[in-house]
Amino acid sequence: MGKSYEPAIQYYCAFCMTPHAYGENAPPEVDCIECHSPLIHAPKMTPVQSGRRVMYRVSANEPLGFFAHWPQDRPTPGSLTDLSLNGIQFNCEQPIEPYTNIKVQSALLDAVVRIVYCRAPEDVSKRYTVGAKFLTLRLHKNRGAFVSVET
Ligand SMILES: [Zn+2]
Repeated sequence: MGKSYEPAIQYYCAFCMTPHAYGENAPPEVDCIECHSPLIHAPKMTPVQSGRRVMYRVSANEPLGFFAHWPQDRPTPGSLTDLSLNGIQFNCEQPIEPYTNIKVQSALLDAVVRIVYCRAPEDVSKRYTVGAKFLTLRLHKNRGAFVSVET
């Protein structure tokens, strides 16, 4: 008797839902053991809240790959068209259902994102435009994604 009962709060990978043991504040270097998504939460700050301006540089049509399901053998190709503190916009060949979580990887970042919108192309020669917000995010700062923080 007298043994305190530890509430078992489970934390899950935002993409494949595999439980992990890192709790709410997973360190940046750890991955989901199943799908290798980053577990660290995307920063919640906005430029107004933080008093800082964070800028990213994205060249037009930066290649990315994404996984809409797990398991999936290889990433579906897309191109990153916009990167901000809150999320990304990219183009791809196939529609993706809003409110689903997908895993994204590129030379700039690894992330799990939630699809916010998916706009159909205006003509068949063009691609879908997808907007998504970060759930977890690891920027590859040494690859040039991170330009400057102005205080
Ligand atoms: Zn996972």
